[in-house]
Amino acid sequence: MGVPKAVILLIGSELTEGRLLDRNGKFLSEELTELGFFVQEMRILPDDAALLRIAMQEVLGSEARVILSSGGLGHTSDDLTAALWAEALEDSLHFSSEIFAVLRQELEKRGISHLPYLEKYAMRPQRGEVLMNPVGLAPALYWEKGLQVICALPGPPSELQAIWHEHLKKRLLERFSPQSPLHYTLRTTGISESRLSALIEPWEKTLPPSHRLSYNPSWEGVTLHVYAPPASDMDVFEGRIRELRTLLQPYIYAEGNIPLAQALLHRLKQADFTLAIAESCTGGHVAAKIVNIPGASEVLLGGIISYANSAKMQLLGVSPEALETEGAVSKTVALQMAEGVRKAFGADVGIATTGIAGPTGGSPEKPVGTVWIAVATPTIQEARRYLFPGDREAVIERATATALSFLWQILSPKV
Ligand code: AMP
Ligand code: MG
Repeated sequence: MGVPKAVILLIGSELTEGRLLDRNGKFLSEELTELGFFVQEMRILPDDAALLRIAMQEVLGSEARVILSSGGLGHTSDDLTAALWAEALEDSLHFSSEIFAVLRQELEKRGISHLPYLEKYAMRPQRGEVLMNPVGLAPALYWEKGLQVICALPGPPSELQAIWHEHLKKRLLERFSPQSPLHYTLRTTGISESRLSALIEPWEKTLPPSHRLSYNPSWEGVTLHVYAPPASDMDVFEGRIRELRTLLQPYIYAEGNIPLAQALLHRLKQADFTLAIAESCTGGHVAAKIVNIPGASEVLLGGIISYANSAKMQLLGVSPEALETEGAVSKTVALQMAEGVRKAFGADVGIATTGIAGPTGGSPEKPVGTVWIAVATPTIQEARRYLFPGDREAVIERATATALSFLWQILSPKV
């Protein structure tokens, strides 16, 4: 058997009307690919019975061995998925008193005696099964028909993911035993996508045609994924990865699924450094990235959002002369902020951002998007000027990512 194919239907008018960004397709396709399935299609569909009927017929008639849907399993009138799958599979749904009892027990644990629509969640397919929901009410519906597996999952991402991990993943592995491709992820920062691709071009040219390299750029840096087909020679694959690692060594902050903030915290911890953060234009975003990482408290002492000039002077000791002559968005002020926050918290390392996020406040010398980022350590004081394109949100996001990258670069041994 070749690589088993999969199709995902993402159901919900909130998705097709642009009110909600899909997360379930992203999750399921990532998981399926990792397991060794080939996701041949993801479709986003509104809560519309006629369109859903057509889509279900089409995917049931396709080569897909795994058909997953998300959404439409609730109790409201726009929740059509369960009934339509039953119809498409020539099955019927029946009230199950066992499921009802389990759901009632679950509710009682949460102190709720009864919900008026609970019956709707206790329906099971005659020729299929239900996969109970560890974190919510709506169970998933599961059928095996001919060569295909069909599973309708609830829309809330936490519920869909819980059912996947608890039940569905195991079922699919048992039924299809797909072979996972070899996969390696390498995360870089401080090098642009174009410079990176030029650097590794000779290496890339010697990759076997069956291997695949993909680039995933973000503001924090460029992530590379290397894939080799299932059952490829592991030693050969690892040899190629070692070459890639050597080529990119100064820019690599992590292998695998690790965010830049986590790598940065690790580096600070290794150096036995504490951190303090002064933010003007990023308004706490840099601190938030750090705080998102478990164990941040071992490194981060605190932060100051010094938005007004008065706050920069009073809380960070920025000099009135620098603010007067060079302005709040300047090299001198950025450096004074970084040094000031370092002193204010008694930290080893200070980092500061000051810039013009827009849409107003720009000038010919300092257009919107101008951001100064400074780092102060016991031995280094360095500031860099950036000009980020985009709207206010984009400037803040890029400044935040760049601040993390800048600090990581300062702390990394140079080659
Ligand atoms: P439903 O199962 O259709 O009742 O979906 C319930 C809720 O799950 C929706 O209101 C959304 O908040 C969320 N949801 C549904 N589909 C998705 C999706 N593809 N990505 C992220 N959230 C979703
Ligand atoms: Mg819905």
